[in-house]
Amino acid sequence: MQWQLLATMLPYNTFKIDEKAEALTEIHTLETFEECRQYARVHQQPIHIVGGGSNILLTTQVDGCVLINKIKGIQVVHENDTYVHVKFSGGEIWHDCVLWAVANQLGGIENLSLIPGTIGAAPIQNIGAYGVELKDVFVSLEAIHIQTGEKKIFDLDSCAFGYRDSVFKNTEKNKWFIYSVTLQLTKHPTLQLSYGNILAELKHLPHSTYSLQDVSQAIINIRQAKLPNPAIIGNAGSFFKNPIISKQHLATIQQSHATIPFFEQKDGIKIPAAWLIEKTGWKGYREGDFGVHTQQALVLVNYGHARGRDIVSLSENIITSVQQVFNIELEREVNIW
Ligand code: FAD
Ligand code: NAP
Repeated sequence: MQWQLLATMLPYNTFKIDEKAEALTEIHTLETFEECRQYARVHQQPIHIVGGGSNILLTTQVDGCVLINKIKGIQVVHENDTYVHVKFSGGEIWHDCVLWAVANQLGGIENLSLIPGTIGAAPIQNIGAYGVELKDVFVSLEAIHIQTGEKKIFDLDSCAFGYRDSVFKNTEKNKWFIYSVTLQLTKHPTLQLSYGNILAELKHLPHSTYSLQDVSQAIINIRQAKLPNPAIIGNAGSFFKNPIISKQHLATIQQSHATIPFFEQKDGIKIPAAWLIEKTGWKGYREGDFGVHTQQALVLVNYGHARGRDIVSLSENIITSVQQVFNIELEREVNIW
């Protein structure tokens, strides 16, 4: 492997924060990962895994070894009349895998079109959008323990998936390198069209029986119209999770804010964080090169040369405002480095 020393992380994070990595290399094989692991062990350096860098916010130089995961491969490992199990290598680009599934008439992940990042990162926060989550199609993942080199297969239960959450954000945080994820994709999919404006988007088509391709393209259209493109404005998608509150808490808020939007979930009432941020006056806020997106209050943005710590401090101010007005504690979704 070839280390770049004091390398800029600029091409490796969608927030476009210009911090350095002490040592950085791209890994294309498991053997290279093992070499890097040994190197880091001997030099007593921490390892940091990066996929597409679309869910991290850099606040300082990254000390130790940064490994950019580029391990590629797509393999059908099991098939019957109704479904296919496909093993995707961790460095595959998530959206490319969605397009691969759609092109092969395999359903299950079309609603997750255009989510940035890699396959290996998808289980970390159980990526989700438009009513579908990774856990809905997840079979297992293969991982290597970064400290010990132990290989382990995690099944659905051992990942402990929750709303934008998994064991890899909790007890197993930063401990494992995920090098493959196996998904169950279906040959006779039931399209999930009830969420948001998917149907409204599909209605533009000249036909009324929709294909996987139609759904994927509809999601792509909606996302391109609504979300800031990180290639143009640095961002990491939703900065905060949507909070879950109790029915009683909702009733209290409704006394002063009758129109508060909410969604009943198994574990409580989900409130769109974007609404809370807008109501506390932060939508469109800008200070120098950082701010809150003008159309998407959930997305904090870097307009040019923002520093990660400025964005963190903006997020703290937002958390304080929402706490004061609604007595709700917003939780960050983005990983702060
Ligand atoms: P990175 O940012 O590189 O890493 C994220 C975390 O995972 C880090 O802690 C990293 O160390 C760890 N990690 C990465 N790869 C591995 C690996 N192989 N093994 C172990 N740990 C690893 N998310 C959603 O859930 N739904 C959305 O709809 C959505 N939309 C987005 C839209 C935009 C415009 C953007 C910028 C982001 C969006 N996100 C969304 C967030 C992001 O795309 C996901 O969290 C994605 O899974 C991150 O993948 P990544 O490869 O970029 O991860
Ligand atoms: P939206 O459709 O404007 O909806 C706003 C919020 O309300 C969403 O966050 C969503 O929660 C919730 N919601 C809407 N309809 C719902 C329903 N039928 N049932 C339950 N909850 C509902 O949201 P958006 O900002 O344009 O994003 C669309 C989808 O893409 C959402 O699923 C969102 O999570 C996802 N997305 C995620 C990121 C990220 O970085 N994590 C970035 C962009 C978009 P949920 O978020 O729980 O779905």
